[in-house]
Amino acid sequence: MEKLAQSFYQRALELRGKPLDAADLQRPALVFAPHPDDDVLAVGGTIALKRQRGVEVGVVYLTDGRRAPSSLTPSRLARRRHREALAALKTLGVVAGQARFLDFEDGQLAQHERAAQGQVAEILDRQAADQLFVPLPWDGHRDHEAAFRIVRAAARSCQRRHQVLAYPVWFWEHWPWSAPCSGNDAVASAFFRHSARAWLRGLRTLDRWTDVGAALEQKRAALACHVSQVVPGEGTGLAGLDGGRFLARFFTGREHFSQRSW
Ligand SMILES: [Zn+2]
Repeated sequence: MEKLAQSFYQRALELRGKPLDAADLQRPALVFAPHPDDDVLAVGGTIALKRQRGVEVGVVYLTDGRRAPSSLTPSRLARRRHREALAALKTLGVVAGQARFLDFEDGQLAQHERAAQGQVAEILDRQAADQLFVPLPWDGHRDHEAAFRIVRAAARSCQRRHQVLAYPVWFWEHWPWSAPCSGNDAVASAFFRHSARAWLRGLRTLDRWTDVGAALEQKRAALACHVSQVVPGEGTGLAGLDGGRFLARFFTGREHFSQRSW
């Protein structure tokens, strides 16, 4: 049942949306990731395709990722995630000089929006990118939603006009890609109500997509660099979330975006 619903949804998004074309893939881009790994999960294939074409891609990490569940202390985890992010980018063809780490505290980004806006505005001024990848403004995670607001405020003060593509990460933590976290009836019915709303909203807004089939192995290798996140026992075990269904969603061969004006 879930599999059928997943294929139906993906097909619906493809029919209703438009793939990124050759011109879109040629645009120099900046990817804004609230945490190290969001870039790979949601945009990794698209980044690899751009780099295969020699197109410049920069990645900006807004927080240090120190709050993910882990046996490491927060500061050690932050250092480790920094190294993992660089290794993953290398796998996608992005050199270390194109990565920026703003190092705001994981989970606290909304409390530093002003400071982050200033830094993002400087990056937008310096970098000749006219395509921006940002989290969906309704992705369901406070750092992701704050990241969207920060980039929007900074981009509005910038002279350059950008193509804006918002990407889902936690959006996929709804049925049929995920299951209720408890057997409690009230929890399950709230989960399905949320899922129905997310479905409709996704169908309305996720109007662009990339066929990343040719870069899927590179994307898989890049995600494997985030050992602290994907190896069960190391930390959160994203790999184990919903029996692997959540992570599998990022390897269907499609990356979906919502093209928007600010
Ligand atoms: Zn994240």
